[in-house]
Amino acid sequence: MTRLSDLSAQQPHATQALATAVRSGRLHHAYILAGPPEANADRLALAVAQSLVCQSRSDVDACETCPGCRKLLSGSHPDFLRVEPDDKGNIAIDAIRLLTGRLALKAAESPHKVAYLRDADQMNPAAQNALLKTLEEPPGSSIFLLTTTRWRSLLPTVRSRSLTLRLAPLTRQGATQALIQAGIPEQSAQPLAALVGSDVERAQAMLANGADEIIVTLTGALAPTATIDAILKVAADLGAERERADLALTLLEVGVRDALAARHGANTDQVYVSPLWLAPHAEHFPERLVATGRRLQQLRRAKAMNPNRTLSLEGILLLLAGKLGAEPSLPTGSSRFA
Ligand SMILES: [Zn+2]
Repeated sequence: MTRLSDLSAQQPHATQALATAVRSGRLHHAYILAGPPEANADRLALAVAQSLVCQSRSDVDACETCPGCRKLLSGSHPDFLRVEPDDKGNIAIDAIRLLTGRLALKAAESPHKVAYLRDADQMNPAAQNALLKTLEEPPGSSIFLLTTTRWRSLLPTVRSRSLTLRLAPLTRQGATQALIQAGIPEQSAQPLAALVGSDVERAQAMLANGADEIIVTLTGALAPTATIDAILKVAADLGAERERADLALTLLEVGVRDALAARHGANTDQVYVSPLWLAPHAEHFPERLVATGRRLQQLRRAKAMNPNRTLSLEGILLLLAGKLGAEPSLPTGSSRFA
């Protein structure tokens, strides 16, 4: 469970607005948390819901151990009502009628009844209209938390009766932090955030495929002290399995792309330049980055030709490590890098 204050670095504006409201008890009756998928509006909505039902809050953060917190976490809190799209991806009018019926009942254990509507834009107009009456006259101390990645799909009437908090696209640092908070090891979080943003599930899947070990292996192969033999061994090891080779090439691709972007003045918060595994080559030998980037692009295009994975990795790593002397001739046809 994410605590509300944990999200202040990732979504400073929205988190501050919600924290101020929770702290003062002066809450708007309906919030729309709107932003791109990687902004993860649902995590923010759930953190707020938890703070609202917690019986032993410390400032704005839920304690995670009181009965209120435990019931919310186990999905059995009587005052926390959750509506999500069904199997077909729709929120049907019946689900909204059920929700509004339950909201009409008094809060049982918490000062607020909290209605959380995930992907609220999946309500069709009829469902949104059914919600509208309750939004206009919210019963008792009900608080609505609607999340959406498609704010414009909500009816203007729904939007105008709610307070919209816009979530910013997550910065690279924000995404890295989100992964670390979710338990992704720190040394892997930065390169993985470059690949998957703050998508914890995808990052975990990549870890399950050995991403952390691949990152360590690549870092070793690119160390200034690495010998050509060591690099060839790494290439052979990674190249032996298709999935590991693909992940290694993807990590190299993103790393090189970002290192180049940083050199060209890109906002360093939108790119990552790992101190570990592209330095010092990236810093002192930009021409290697450029050549490597070109080589990686060619490999992408050649993918349909079933390239030799070990030789591809060999070429990239030797090039990046400066072991190939001048930029090698570009592969054509059946060259060893193709
Ligand atoms: Zn609590």
